[in-house]
Amino acid sequence: MEYITGMTGDAARRYMELAGHRAFRGSQAVTAVWKNHVRDLAGVTTFPKSMRQALSGVLAVSPLFLRQERLSVDGTAKYLFACPDGETIESVRIPSADGRVTGCVSSQTGCPLGCVFCATGLSGPGRNLSPAEIAGQVFELLAAGGPLTNIVFMGMGEPLLNLDAVLDAFRVIHDGACAGIGRRRVTLSTVGIPAGLEKLRLSGEALRLAVSLHSAVAETRKRLVPGVAAAPSEIVSAAMAYGRTSRLRVTFECVLMDSLNDDRFHAQALASMLEHADTRVNLIPYNPVSGSPFRSPPADRVRAFRDALAARGVKATIRVGFGADIEAACGQLRSRSG
Ligand code: SAH
Ligand code: SF4
Repeated sequence: MEYITGMTGDAARRYMELAGHRAFRGSQAVTAVWKNHVRDLAGVTTFPKSMRQALSGVLAVSPLFLRQERLSVDGTAKYLFACPDGETIESVRIPSADGRVTGCVSSQTGCPLGCVFCATGLSGPGRNLSPAEIAGQVFELLAAGGPLTNIVFMGMGEPLLNLDAVLDAFRVIHDGACAGIGRRRVTLSTVGIPAGLEKLRLSGEALRLAVSLHSAVAETRKRLVPGVAAAPSEIVSAAMAYGRTSRLRVTFECVLMDSLNDDRFHAQALASMLEHADTRVNLIPYNPVSGSPFRSPPADRVRAFRDALAARGVKATIRVGFGADIEAACGQLRSRSG
């Protein structure tokens, strides 16, 4: 089965031609799906009946089935989807006070990297999602909840381990015939794998990059992110090289955990590594994950960390949590309902 959510406008036209139809049928399909949120080809009324019959069982709109939807008190909504093989994934819609509405999508059904503080990592590796399953999440979020202004590849999984599919999905998300979301409004969040960052740089695609560094101290990073051997300095160099090529400012993220990476020593190490780089740091106080022993630092320690960075010229913001009551916050996604 092929899915329209995995096709750009051009790809859908090519698909139709190869299937023996006129190319403009591809444009009609893409318009019906992305602009009118038709979820069944039977609903593409611009297609002749014979054509709808010919395509049935061969081409479908989206590979995802909505299993569960949960709404947070702060307006965040979390969706659990089933894939055609029964694997499940989560996606999140996050409205913010400034009018932005961000869709957070998964790239894998689990994650092999095993970061010790992350629910996805704790639940183990999964498989790569297809472009249709990744862009399909955007389609489902639009159909279920209305327009999105921004997309983050920040759900379950590590996007750089499934980069070809993530970039294919990005092209669909960006295409004006499809979701039409601007490059600068799409962010790929990665744990930071130098070879993957180099591959992204060489792809020539320019989307925003956020690197989950967590610590500039090699031993601390190794303890928190056991799945990646590279030293923090190597990761920062590879990320900054991407920033220069794409001409987009790179962001570094640090999940701060009580007494692990939240003290002055860690703040100074991070400042030393980033003080001459054109970058920003997002500090994310740890969100509780069941089965994990960590705690969030006291708020004054998070502020002190930010101020220590700022004092050395490193711009840092504290990311406020959202959706924690429905386990939709960063690091709380896993492939089960609840
Ligand atoms: N694999 C990618 C993207 C998915 S994780 C990555 O690691 O960047 C998305 C973000 O959630 C990352 O910044 C990650 O560090 C953060 N995160 C994971 N667990 C968390 C937790 N328990 N509390 C707060 N943030 C968490
Ligand atoms: Fe994987 Fe990212 Fe979670 Fe680490 S934080 S286990 S890389 S999803």
